[in-house]
Amino acid sequence: MYFRQLFHIESSTYTYILADNTWRDAVAEGSDEVLQILRNEGLHLTHILETHLHADHISAAHKLREQTDAQVVLSVRAQADCADIAVDDGDFLVLGDDVIRVLATPGHTPESLSFRWHDRVFTGDALLIGGCGRTDFQSGDAGNLYDSITTKLFTLPDETLVYPGHDYHGRRVSCIGEEKYNNPRLANKSREEFIAIMAALNLPLPKLIDVSVPANRLCGANP
Ligand code: FE
Repeated sequence: MYFRQLFHIESSTYTYILADNTWRDAVAEGSDEVLQILRNEGLHLTHILETHLHADHISAAHKLREQTDAQVVLSVRAQADCADIAVDDGDFLVLGDDVIRVLATPGHTPESLSFRWHDRVFTGDALLIGGCGRTDFQSGDAGNLYDSITTKLFTLPDETLVYPGHDYHGRRVSCIGEEKYNNPRLANKSREEFIAIMAALNLPLPKLIDVSVPANRLCGANP
């Protein structure tokens, strides 16, 4: 198996390349780097997996699809016509003799997905290292996020590696056990306590939200 984790500095976003030949959640500026790696490694891109419609950067999915014959995968709940494949909880994507399992993990946004592959799970903005995605815009819902994390992600084996969509402190990987027992928003927290923590965050809106969300409904094309 081939695995790369790329970091985009301005938005602190991770992009992953999995082979058998899957790529997930890139930023627009990152697409040239992804294409370069595909060329260098002789990889054939078959799928572009979006964990959700991003508010803080424009997806490179459209640009990458134009330059490869890959299919863009999004949640059925994204209601985005640009998706080639709309997936839901329990679906799986076949990649050669490999499988990626789809977990619906709504809460940060209604269409948020996580993807499970081998010993690791890609959580997008549902579960972050020592944190979680915010729930105060894009129809976010803290109660739904708590349910997604505790029933879908924390029921995976503790040693499952957690690869998030962002990290603002340069951390690259965690595991389910680490987050279950030490994540300050979730460890020993009830659903009500979690909802109260999320309601008190008072974060500023992402600078690019007004341009990113409409563009990402089109898989990152110009609206
Ligand atoms: Fe997000």
